[in-house]
Amino acid sequence: MISVQSAQQRILSHFQPLETSLVPLDGALGRILTQPVISGIHFPLFDNSSVDGFAVRMEDVRTATSAHPVTLDVVADIPAGQMPEKVISTGQAARIMTGAPVPGGADAVIMVEDTDCHDRKIDSHLPEKVHIYRPANSGENIRRSGTDIQPGQAILPNGTLLRPQDIGILALLGIASVPVRRKPRVAIISSGDELVSAGMPLLPGKIYDSNGPMLAALIQKAECEVISLGVVPDRQEAVQEIFARAAQTRPDVIISSAGVGAGAFDYIKSVVESSGSLNFWKVNMRPGKPLAFGIYRDIPFFGLPGNPVSSYVSFLVFVQPALERMSGIALKTKISIRASLVEPIESDGRESYLRAIVQLRNGKYQAMLTGHQGSGNLFSTVQANALLVIPAGVTTCPAGAEFEAWLFEP
Ligand code: AMP
Ligand code: MG
Repeated sequence: MISVQSAQQRILSHFQPLETSLVPLDGALGRILTQPVISGIHFPLFDNSSVDGFAVRMEDVRTATSAHPVTLDVVADIPAGQMPEKVISTGQAARIMTGAPVPGGADAVIMVEDTDCHDRKIDSHLPEKVHIYRPANSGENIRRSGTDIQPGQAILPNGTLLRPQDIGILALLGIASVPVRRKPRVAIISSGDELVSAGMPLLPGKIYDSNGPMLAALIQKAECEVISLGVVPDRQEAVQEIFARAAQTRPDVIISSAGVGAGAFDYIKSVVESSGSLNFWKVNMRPGKPLAFGIYRDIPFFGLPGNPVSSYVSFLVFVQPALERMSGIALKTKISIRASLVEPIESDGRESYLRAIVQLRNGKYQAMLTGHQGSGNLFSTVQANALLVIPAGVTTCPAGAEFEAWLFEP
């Protein structure tokens, strides 16, 4: 038996970051940047108003109150999107909209609510005079040029998984397309005579294929493309044919679940070996001890265990790091904390990934297992929010003992 770490290292040595291409912003969500983004501009681009109001000279409105307003001549109207032409002199004000450039001479903006013009409609004509009800601080309600972003400032590092707000700032900087890595393409096959796709009638002795949709979802969550090949029965020619079809879709990885055990009808191993090479490892872990990894016609291949919990855990432990290596993501997707056991548990000495609920109590993470840990009990994973990792060699774990917990969500 080999260790989890050794299997991970052997697997990773077969993967390299994929090639880069330029994509427009509307196709960039969830993609991974292959270059840092450095701002070429300052932002705000110009001093602008953060409110709808009146641009004034602070000195003019020093004594303004609602009881004794200051009256100013309104000499300009500045909508957003237009540069002001007039400079504001003593005793003058300009009506200004949010985002509009602040005119020369003005050093503050008084909100429309602090004037006698607060019930105006957008198209209402420009008043000749405005009553100001309060004084202003220097620069009040003015967003100064360059206060948020400077030219040369690092905005997004290489390896960023682009989020909606990242797309927004790229557009703000005037960047219309970005270099991103190609998404890994992952072909998946569910194998087993007993499997029926959800939505189809279930005959006696059959079960629904849960690994196929679950693995597809895990692949999508890892921002990769899924190529679903469906279910293949336990027949040599059928398995051969579906692997050939999988290869024709030009995937970066092929993943199958089940059919790699010692069962009499497990044909996957022989099919992969007939057109490539196969490493079949017994990994010192629970669940997921049997793991096949190999190369089928130059395409890396994972043979995951059939039991749904084992398939899930093996994906996270072995497949996900390989997908991340190809996509070049810099983000740490594995969220690992330390949690202490609420109840004592037994382990069998293998590195164990137990399904648990982790909760924060009095500032400390506490972990409780979600029912029986059979590798066929997918409900234990549905109820869990974490995998509790019991290291190899540990068998008795008293209440209060601390272990690593791998949270499913941040
Ligand atoms: P095997 O590796 O073919 O011996 O399968 C191990 C166990 O996993 C058996 O109980 C299978 O019925 C079950 N199994 C295999 N594939 C799937 C699947 N796609 N969905 C749900 N259960 C599966
Ligand atoms: Mg089977």
